[in-house]
Amino acid sequence: MANNMRFTKLIEESSRCLLCYDPPCSKMCPAGKDPASIIMSLRFKNYKGALLKTVKGLKEKGSCGEACNNAMYCQRNCVRSKIDSPVKLRIVQEILCSGNLWKKV
Ligand code: SF4
Repeated sequence: MANNMRFTKLIEESSRCLLCYDPPCSKMCPAGKDPASIIMSLRFKNYKGALLKTVKGLKEKGSCGEACNNAMYCQRNCVRSKIDSPVKLRIVQEILCSGNLWKKV
């Protein structure tokens, strides 16, 4: 995916977040990551903060995939799914971790 498309997808998905007061996406993460906080940083255009939170979570808690075995507890428990579909938290974090995007932003 080209950088512009990936960045657009990042903004689209973060815009869909309802900014829950007690976010189940973060509460349900077996690796102790905080996807709601990552989304909040994106909403306030703090892209570096979002990237650092994503990478910090990976370094401290190990691989996301190891902890949840691709069950995507965060995304499966997203409140937005009661309206249409969950915020694609996995894609958001994959995009954030995919290097070259930040050279352009
Ligand atoms: S549960 Fe979904 S809508 Fe609520 S804060 Fe997390 S990503 Fe946003």
